[in-house]
Amino acid sequence: MLQSKYNLRKLELSVKQEIKCPHCHEWTLWRGHIDDRCLYCGEFLEIENFTRSIETKIKREVKKENDFLFVREGDSVFLKKLKTNLRPIRTAVYYLQIGFVIFISALLWLIGIISA
Ligand SMILES: [Zn+2]
Repeated sequence: MLQSKYNLRKLELSVKQEIKCPHCHEWTLWRGHIDDRCLYCGEFLEIENFTRSIETKIKREVKKENDFLFVREGDSVFLKKLKTNLRPIRTAVYYLQIGFVIFISALLWLIGIISA
């Protein structure tokens, strides 16, 4: 118990490091988190990573909304039900296609082995 506690503390210490703030150019503590702020000016340290993570999050949301099976607020009850029921079917079809490709390539490989 004491051993694991010590290891954790050591890990925490190793992650912490000094970083030069991109905003005020003071040396401040950085723990490797995207939401770490400068001790002097309070700005985000990894501003590039921070914005990028938000960007990918938004992009993911947009992609979800462009999906024709995405349930929208204005959809009727029937349409909502239809969309929720179609989603697992589409996923199943997708995996069936992958399975089919694997099956065919395995078959071709087997034919190659037999004829050789
Ligand atoms: Zn700063």
